Amino acid sequence: MRLINTNQLSLMLIVFITCSAVYLSLIVTKSHLVDQYQRAYLSLSDSLIQSRENLYYFNHQDNKAYDVYSSQLVNADLKASFLSERLENDQAHWLSRFLISSDEAISYAKNTQVGASTLINDLETSLRLKVSYEYSALTTLLLEEKLLSTLPALEDKLYVSQFTLTGLMESPPSRYLKTQPEFKSLSNYIAFRERIKVESKNKEKDIFTNNVKQMLTQQNSYWLSQAESIKNHMFITVVLFICAIAAYFYLQLRERLRQTLVIKRDLFNSEKEKSKLALVAEHAHDAILITDKDGILTWANQSFCTLSGYQLNEVLGKKPGNILQGEKTSKDDINRISTAIKNGASIESELVNYHKNGTEYWIDIAITPTFDLEGSLEQFIAVERDITKRKALEIDLADAAKQAEVSNKAKSTFLATMSHELRTPLNGILGMAQIIESNIKDPEQHKQINVLLESGDHLLSLLNDILDFSKIEQNKLELNCEDFNFKDVINPITSTYIPICEDRGLNLIINNEIGPNTVFKGDKPRIRQIIFNLISNAVKFTHDGSITLLFNHTLTVKKETGITIQIKDSGIGIRQERLEKIFDPFIQAESSTTRQYGGTGLGLAIVKQLVDVMGGDISVNSTEGKGTTFTIVIPLETSIKQATVENKDHSPRTNIEETKTPTNLSILIAEDNKVNALVAKMFCQRLGHQVTIAENGQIALDILQESSFDLIIMDNHMPIMDGITATQIIRNKLKLSTVIFACTADVFQEAHDNFIAAGANYILTKPLQEQSFLDAINHHKIKIERNKSSHQPKTNIIELKRYSKDKITTLALTEAELTLEPLIEICGDDIEIRNEFLTSFINTSEESITSLITAYDKKDIDNIRLHSHSIKGMAGNFDAHRLVESASSIEKDAKMGMLPKLNDIQQLINLLEVNIQQATRLMENKSDKKQGDVNINA
Ligand code: ADP
Repeated sequence: MRLINTNQLSLMLIVFITCSAVYLSLIVTKSHLVDQYQRAYLSLSDSLIQSRENLYYFNHQDNKAYDVYSSQLVNADLKASFLSERLENDQAHWLSRFLISSDEAISYAKNTQVGASTLINDLETSLRLKVSYEYSALTTLLLEEKLLSTLPALEDKLYVSQFTLTGLMESPPSRYLKTQPEFKSLSNYIAFRERIKVESKNKEKDIFTNNVKQMLTQQNSYWLSQAESIKNHMFITVVLFICAIAAYFYLQLRERLRQTLVIKRDLFNSEKEKSKLALVAEHAHDAILITDKDGILTWANQSFCTLSGYQLNEVLGKKPGNILQGEKTSKDDINRISTAIKNGASIESELVNYHKNGTEYWIDIAITPTFDLEGSLEQFIAVERDITKRKALEIDLADAAKQAEVSNKAKSTFLATMSHELRTPLNGILGMAQIIESNIKDPEQHKQINVLLESGDHLLSLLNDILDFSKIEQNKLELNCEDFNFKDVINPITSTYIPICEDRGLNLIINNEIGPNTVFKGDKPRIRQIIFNLISNAVKFTHDGSITLLFNHTLTVKKETGITIQIKDSGIGIRQERLEKIFDPFIQAESSTTRQYGGTGLGLAIVKQLVDVMGGDISVNSTEGKGTTFTIVIPLETSIKQATVENKDHSPRTNIEETKTPTNLSILIAEDNKVNALVAKMFCQRLGHQVTIAENGQIALDILQESSFDLIIMDNHMPIMDGITATQIIRNKLKLSTVIFACTADVFQEAHDNFIAAGANYILTKPLQEQSFLDAINHHKIKIERNKSSHQPKTNIIELKRYSKDKITTLALTEAELTLEPLIEICGDDIEIRNEFLTSFINTSEESITSLITAYDKKDIDNIRLHSHSIKGMAGNFDAHRLVESASSIEKDAKMGMLPKLNDIQQLINLLEVNIQQATRLMENKSDKKQGDVNINA
């Protein structure tokens, strides 16, 4: 059971005391009322007794006494009825009923009132009778005297006296007497007197038998008993009341004592605490200062004196700031601290302070205000720590970090510059190798040139990796966000890796669960680069088995939409302890990897950084000897394309963009480097475009003033006028909207930004890559075609062009004239000799085309004449009449010193091209002449 606590007990006592007080006051009131009634009834009883006694002493002759007595009786009667009525009336009120007017009291009162009324009536009657008796007795005496004086006979006189005295007639009166009127009156009065006497006696008897006295006695004893019981109650209540008050005061006293004890104990504890704190503050390593609310120092510990060099008495009553701060103390920090002190707020800061001897030192200061119980600012406590050593360390660290940053920047800049510088010659090497490759027929040489191309590509990918890595390190990698379809990411990858995997006997499984209509917003080339890197590793480290690519929609950890890319191989795997390191730059899983597989250890570092920049996540799972799985989750915004043109051809090699790429564009290439210019020209010509070269920006502007082009490819660094200036003039002065692709080996974003700001539409980086060039053209094809349709007819600056092998079909093949007949005539059935003839036709024709183009470019009429002449001779040998005609018409013009028309030369080149093709077919179909014929004629 829960014990009642002091407060509850006090409360109970207060309630009890209040109730007792109320009860007591009621009892006192009741006692007063009882007393009143008791007194009233006592007085009533006195007056009644008095009245009864007075009756005997009543003197009827005293009229005044009669009146007094009568009014005394009336008063007594009134008093009795008043008391009874009052008691009765009081019963109507609950409090009076409770206090005084009990049924018992009322019944007594009523009885008393009735008794008193009866008595008073009787007394009054008796009083009246007494008066009548006195009157009749007096009248009798007068009549007796008269008769005695008038009666002659003594006997009659005696008779009258006797009769008057006794009132009895013992014998009849004499006749004489009888006849006397006075005697008759006397007889009547005596009879009246005697009757009253009897009545009076009866009344007296009634009066003395009236029980009003008992009633009054009962009444009095009732009130007495009431008074007695009230006294008892009052006594008990007063005793309890006093006890309760005493208990209450005892409790209060005890509580006050307890509280005093608690306060004393708390005081003692807080004193103890204070003395401990004072001890701590005094001996703390940190300097501790206490100031008043205006910042005036009131106390400081020993550490402060040690730190500042001042004695306490030197600084007490002063503002610490005025003594300790100096020249090198930051004004801003001082202002911040003053403002905080003014506002009564806490503040932390690092500051330079000055020792008494002038030495500066750094402190870390924390100032806290303290408030009194009313919440008014009382004082400030400041804790200062000497951080001079830490500051020095920080400065050293910052210097070291700056140094490291400079070194890192220098390293990244070096890497980027080297990659840029290597890019220019590589552009020449790769470009020329590509051109040579397309012209080489000998399979052995083809193999050799392919080795050159592969090595070049490898070198380029290394350069790209180094460049990407340095960009990432310098935080210069920026993502280009554009809408794209996921198949545009996968198609180039699969078309590259399906043949590679076939070659290596690997099974490439592609599981693409991403809907064809989903449009993503992101950096497509970078996503492609991530996948390329991972597949190339998978292919590199897998000797047999399969490589599985899985692409699907996903929700990232942050519930954003995105894609999951999984690349799984059954290759050599990675040891668990090396797994977490493989994303670090220049790290390979095994030291033997470079020896066996090559590589730089940059690929995964770049992949990781790219994924991080995209806000994605990469993880790897690997079992040594069983294979590796890389999983990437990239957040990408998505939407569903409304109506898409379905790609009917589901072959992974097909690239829709490629099929729609515009051909036969007139392109102006501004490039000062001869090798690069030639490479770019050949590159474009191979793709079926016509090219004009300008050696610098100024020449490009001159050409543009006379002719219009579908596309301009603009180098940056050129003598006389650079590409950026030329681009600005094309846009601002010539007001041309021709699409401009800046083509630069500059890999720094600033150079790209400058080009874009000048008005270039796109930046191509060297070495020029066919895929990126095609992508760029496709991206701008609407603009290119719109410009093309708004061109003025071109002037005579139409470049000669050759058709690449795959574009040759765009020529009219029916113009091919070469047949086997003239050769059979010369060589008979000897296929080998016939093939030798055909090979020599092909080689001579190829050389002639190149020479004609070069000669025409240089406006070298002599060489044009020479080459057209030799073509004419060769064509005659093969009975190719149209070829002969075309060559002789050009020869004729040249002979006349005229530069032959471009169209004529182009026609001759076209004829040579289709016949070269024809010769190749005739050679290829040597074992199946019939089929060859069909194909030729098809
Ligand atoms: P590298 O140019 O050396 O391939 P990467 O950064 O691409 O550089 O890869 C780092 C190392 O991680 C590789 O040298 C190889 O040891 C390991 N590695 C990466 N991918 C695979 C894989 N699919 N299977 C086995 N080992 C791998």
